Amino acid sequence: MAQSNTNLITKTLKVLKRSDKILSYVNKTNQREMKYFNVVAAEGEVAYRIRVYQVNKLNMLQTGLSFKFHNMVAKGDKEYWITSNSTLAYSATVETSLTDSCELQLPEKIAPEGEKKTLASALASPDKSSVLGKVVQVSPLKYRQGGSLPVRALILKDSQTTAKVCLFGGNAEMQFEEGNMVNVSAVYPKKYLNRDQLTTSPISTCQFTADDPTILVQQQDANQYLSDPDFEEDLDEPLIEDIILTDFTEFDVYKCCEVKACRQKKMVGNQCPVCKATTSNLKSYRIAFLYSTEKAKDKKITLFKSTIEKILKVELDLEEQKSSLISVVVDKLPIRVRASISAGNNLYNIQ
Ligand SMILES: [Zn+2]
Repeated sequence: MAQSNTNLITKTLKVLKRSDKILSYVNKTNQREMKYFNVVAAEGEVAYRIRVYQVNKLNMLQTGLSFKFHNMVAKGDKEYWITSNSTLAYSATVETSLTDSCELQLPEKIAPEGEKKTLASALASPDKSSVLGKVVQVSPLKYRQGGSLPVRALILKDSQTTAKVCLFGGNAEMQFEEGNMVNVSAVYPKKYLNRDQLTTSPISTCQFTADDPTILVQQQDANQYLSDPDFEEDLDEPLIEDIILTDFTEFDVYKCCEVKACRQKKMVGNQCPVCKATTSNLKSYRIAFLYSTEKAKDKKITLFKSTIEKILKVELDLEEQKSSLISVVVDKLPIRVRASISAGNNLYNIQ
């Protein structure tokens, strides 16, 4: 049978790792339960990850044995699927320098925060990683998506190399200084302006750790990033205005999702609309304010907990009666703030 499909790949590989049991997920389009297992298999210096949908082959694919994986479907770099159209055959032993302790993991063994890796191997990894490094340079805090998304880049250095790491949201708003040791979780490699860098995901966290005096930050560490626009100040600075929050029309306290990636999403009918979680003990709030600027009067803006706390510099106890929460905010009126108003009608750049 002639196969013209260039996505079909045949390789003879030695199995290094294999799932302990059959795994499954529900296909979203047809609601069918899909069963599969994973193997990590290698030849020479290179390991591949293969998802096997022929679940009756679990016992055949023993670690240490070599097989011809005929007509695999290519699913990205070094990832293949064995489907019903593929053939598995016992073969002569394949030479490889890799062992069952090689870096490429079975997908089910990867922790959500990523495996701890050096910056160099995180940059080369197909998976999420957790990295540790000393801050060489901190970019200015910038805002994307009409002012709604804070972004910042760091250059981190470990014992081997340097890497640029991009942060978003709350991670970007943290204060970093040169020489800080920072652990950043759940990062993955991404190309930007043709250069490899690490970028964070919604579940990523930044944590400061104890200094490692063996890592010396030198001026030339930042040299290769000199032309990177992320480290330059924005030329057209957003307008920062004097804003007076004069009154408010609504004060809404609500249950919100505890999952960090959901960014305190309001639960609807006791369920998170994003991740579908149904249990949460976390509350948040929003206030619909009227505000004035030099140019305008009685404009409407709805602000959420994190922004209000940044302006008022107080944390409200949301277990208190709503009437007492309201009077706390009433006592602060009028609230004066210097900030930029985003296209999405939010405050950012709060001074
Ligand atoms: Zn959620």
